[in-house]
Parts: sequence; C-alpha cells; structure tokens
Amino acid sequence: MSEEQHWVILTQIWDGPAPELIIQRALDQPGAKRRRMGIKFQCPQCRDDGHDRHRDNAIVFNDGKWACAYAPGEVSHKQAIAKALGALGEPAEIALDEKAFYDEVL
Ligand SMILES: [Zn+2]
Repeated sequence: MSEEQHWVILTQIWDGPAPELIIQRALDQPGAKRRRMGIKFQCPQCRDDGHDRHRDNAIVFNDGKWACAYAPGEVSHKQAIAKALGALGEPAEIALDEKAFYDEVL
C-alpha cells in the first residue's frame, strides 16, 4: 500500500485595500500627479530623510502596486508609502490541502 500523497498549495492573497482604492488614496498624497504609468507623489521616507523636494519619488502604478523611485529596494520606503496609503499589512498566506479540497469538491 502506498501512502497517500497530500499536496500542499501555498497561495498568497492580498487582503489589503483594492487597487482602485489605493490609487484613489495616492491622489490625496502631497504633490500627487497623474502620469501615464500611475500616480506620482512625495515619498514620506524620502521627505523624512530630507529628499524629494520635487514630491515625485513615490509612485502607485495603475495596477495598485507602489514603489519609491529613489530607493526601490528599501523596505523602509515601501512601508512608509504603504502607511501613507493605509495599506500596511502582510499578504495572508493560505495553505490549501489539495486532497482535502478535491475530496470535498468531487
Ligand atoms: Zn523614498
């Protein structure tokens, strides 16, 4: 008898605000300007560090994702932008037991 295999699927689900809402909130940020790629505005972390006098380092893209153009890899900038947008929080990680799922469905 072979042992039954249970495949576990890990899925990341975004449980924060919808992209439309994030874009709407971006429009309320200091220096907000609509560009072809999305909404540009002042990055709160750059501001605190004494940069971004042009108020255009942060961007929320049209798909609702955000970044800082000055420090793209810096978590502190991403988090500062997330906080300003009310989008703090980690995506929920959901583990699905595939066999249990199919047992229930089939
Ligand atoms: Zn920044």
